[in-house]
Amino acid sequence: MLDHLKTHFGFDAFRPLQEDIINAVLARQDTLVLMPTGGGKSLCYQLPALLLDGITLVVSPLIALMKDQVDALNANGVPAAYLNSSLCASDAMGVQKEALRGKVKLLYVAPERLASPSFRPFFESLDVCLVAIDEAHCISQWGHDFRPEYRNLRDVRDLFPEAPIIALTATATPQVKEDIVRSLGLRDAKTFISSFNRPNLHYRVQPKYNAFVSLRGMLVGYKDQSVIIYCFSRKDTEELAQNLSRAGYRALPYHAGLLREVRTRTQEQFIRDEVKIIVATIAFGMGIDKPDVRLVVHMDLPKTMEAYYQETGRAGRDGLKSECVLFYSIADRRKQDYFIDQIADEQERARARDKLRQVLAYCEAMTCRRRFMLAYFGETYDQPSCEACDNCVKATETKPRDITMTQKILNAVLRTGERFGMGYICEVLRGSRNKRVLQNKHDQLSVHGLLRDVSEADLRVRISSLVRTGELEKVAGEYPTLRVSKAGRASLDVS
Ligand code: ADP
Ligand code: ZN
Repeated sequence: MLDHLKTHFGFDAFRPLQEDIINAVLARQDTLVLMPTGGGKSLCYQLPALLLDGITLVVSPLIALMKDQVDALNANGVPAAYLNSSLCASDAMGVQKEALRGKVKLLYVAPERLASPSFRPFFESLDVCLVAIDEAHCISQWGHDFRPEYRNLRDVRDLFPEAPIIALTATATPQVKEDIVRSLGLRDAKTFISSFNRPNLHYRVQPKYNAFVSLRGMLVGYKDQSVIIYCFSRKDTEELAQNLSRAGYRALPYHAGLLREVRTRTQEQFIRDEVKIIVATIAFGMGIDKPDVRLVVHMDLPKTMEAYYQETGRAGRDGLKSECVLFYSIADRRKQDYFIDQIADEQERARARDKLRQVLAYCEAMTCRRRFMLAYFGETYDQPSCEACDNCVKATETKPRDITMTQKILNAVLRTGERFGMGYICEVLRGSRNKRVLQNKHDQLSVHGLLRDVSEADLRVRISSLVRTGELEKVAGEYPTLRVSKAGRASLDVS
């Protein structure tokens, strides 16, 4: 089998689970594959398709991706074709003929085609050896991406009673999993779950307060690196891209309202590293396989944990350390609530609310974010600390001292009336009795001399990093009485 892997796909070894899955399929078992994006699901039906007698049907919801997949297979010498609404009648007829003559090993079909009565005789005359349902979560109303046309796939079992079914998805909660098995009528399905953990992704939730300033501070650490910033609305993406451009970054917006040419060009520029920052709605990312995205920022709350997992999953495909930051504010929650209230269908509304509740729980979690996320997908993460989420890092760092230092700095800024620059704040904290300090009677403040043992240089570094990393807001969020105003932060002038 390794030979086939090498000759047809050019790979030297199987990825985890691939071989076991392929063996199950070759043994004609129904199979359910839960594997994160990029895990290598396609191979699990493409390789068996070559080895089994007959034709393999692949149901996929994304018309745009079908052509890419088929082109890639053909380039490797695998006879593959697709049937969807993008083909004209005569092309579709040609594909059908080839398929009936046994010239096609893999036929990609849109779900509505498979269910359409007019195509039924055609499908019934095929010698189908395997049915693969890609993005199988689309069949479930409990998924985040329910597609009504997937409902029709309930008939697949009756249509091809002899053929085993392999269902694949990257996002399935236990509930969705059950839904898939039931809806497709899978029999004793062998289930393969590869871990959803992405150890190289670092997760962080940050109070949304002066988000643009925080974002800029963050971007300083990602010079010349690829970054995706997700926003809630199209308008937000355009505004933010513009503001970033004004601030000297090359950033482009991306959303479904832009012309197709513009979107394609933007994507290409991003992939070719001509543009480093994409400010996008969730429309961006489907089918984009850029390995070196180092930072994914959510300026607004995602609607579901599935969406958040998928969107952050676009970071660090190459396995190198990458960061996922979510800005969270109560105001955003109200915004989402408002949109949920507009949903007419009662059941759907309840579902959306439930999904949002999980996202909020993630934001407000005080324990490991990774564990929370994996638990959501039904996976147990048994390490005491992942050391790569804000909560775990906070717990291991000698944070108490740090926070106190931050508190002291904030206090000094507030007590001196939020009017002084960084140098002066340092003087007060280090207990200077120079003329200005004495004149202002700041030697009488409780904060005077509180950080006497910290060098001025260290203190300066600390203050600017507080401002740059947005930590200032974060601590202010934890200690509301220590909230520094915009003006106060501006007067610190650490730029
Ligand atoms: P998924 O559908 O799970 O998101 P794909 O099937 O698109 O993942 O595979 C992701 C990437 O991994 C593709 O670029 C694919 O060529 C590559 N890949 C898959 N299997 C292997 C393998 N055994 N060895 C090396 N690369 C692989
Ligand atoms: Zn953690």
